[in-house]
Amino acid sequence: MAATVIDGKAVAAEVRARVADGVREFAEAHGGHVPGLATVLVGDDPASHVYVGNKRKLTEEVGMRSIHHGLPAETPEEELLALVAELNADDDVDGILVQLPLPDGIDQDAVIATIDPRKDVDALTAGSAGLLAQGRPGLVPCTPQGVMELLRHAGVEVQGADAVIVGRSILVGRPLASLLLNASATVTVCHSRTRDLPEVCRRADILVAAVGSPRLVEGDWIKPGAAVIDVGTNRTDDGLVGDVDFEAAREVAGAITPVPGGVGPMTIAMLLSNTLRAAGARVEQSPAPSS
Ligand code: NAP
Repeated sequence: MAATVIDGKAVAAEVRARVADGVREFAEAHGGHVPGLATVLVGDDPASHVYVGNKRKLTEEVGMRSIHHGLPAETPEEELLALVAELNADDDVDGILVQLPLPDGIDQDAVIATIDPRKDVDALTAGSAGLLAQGRPGLVPCTPQGVMELLRHAGVEVQGADAVIVGRSILVGRPLASLLLNASATVTVCHSRTRDLPEVCRRADILVAAVGSPRLVEGDWIKPGAAVIDVGTNRTDDGLVGDVDFEAAREVAGAITPVPGGVGPMTIAMLLSNTLRAAGARVEQSPAPSS
C-alpha cells in the first residue's frame, strides 16, 4: 500500500495559525507590545533574498513586527557585529535572524556567537546547542523542530523507535539527533564516511535524509512501513527534488514527506513560533515596569 504523504504545507499553516493566536494574546497581556523579529541579510545571493522575503511576509501575516536590515556584500565584519549588538540591546526586538551563508571574509561563527542567547531564534549559538544536547529547555533550531512536529502530526511513535538520520550538520542532523534522543528514540547519525549506508537505513523505523544529494536514498533502503522525512532541497533539471527517491520510497514507506511541500514550509513556521517563545521568555525574565 502506498505511504501516507505528510502535508507539510497544511501542518505549517496550522502552526502559523497557533502562533497568530499567541501573538494576539501576548499583545493583550503586554499593553499592545507585539513581538518583533529582526532579519539581517548581507549581500545579494538571490536564494537568500527569496528566503528572507518569505520570512518577513509570514512574520507580518501572524501579526508580528518585521524589522529588516539589508547590507551590501562588502560590509566589514565589525559593522555587522555592531549591528547585531544594537539589535541585542533593542527592546523592540525579540528575535534576531542573520541569514546564512554570509559572504566570504565574514566569520560566520563570530557573528552567530554575538547574538544574545535570549534572541537566538535560529538556535545556532553554542549555548542553545548545549542546552539541547543536555536535554534542557531552550530555543531549538527551526528545521529539526519542524521535523519533530511533522512526526507528531503523522502520529509516528518516536519513543523506542530506531531513528536513522543521514547528515550530521549543526543546522539539521546534530540538533535533530538530540531531539529524537530526548524523545527516547534510539538514534543513529550517518555521514559521508558511514559504511554500508543502505543497510543502516534499512533498520530505521524513522529515516531522515538531510544530505543535499538528489534522490540518494533509494526505495530498497527503506524498511516497510517506516516514516521517511526528506529534508533535502536540491535544484535539478527536473525542478526541486529531495534526498529521497520519492516515487520508489512511497511504495514501501508508511508515511513520507514530499519535496517541495514537506519540511520546507515548517522551517519558517517554527522560526515564528521561536520568536513568540523568545518574546514570552524575555518578559518573564524582565517584566515591564508598571506605569
Ligand atoms: P550540510 O551541512 O552540507 O551537511 C550534509 C551532511 O550530509 C554532512 O553531514 C555530510 O557528511 C553528509 N553527506 C554528504 N554526502 C553523503 C553521502 N553520500 N552519504 C551520507 N552522508 C552524506 O547540509 P545541511 O545544511 O544539513 O542541509 C542538508 C540538506 O537539507 C540540503 O539539501 C539543504 O538544502 C537542506 N535543508 C533544507 C531545509 C528546509 O527548510 N527544507 C533547511 C536546512 C537544510 P560529512 O559530515 O561527512 O561531510
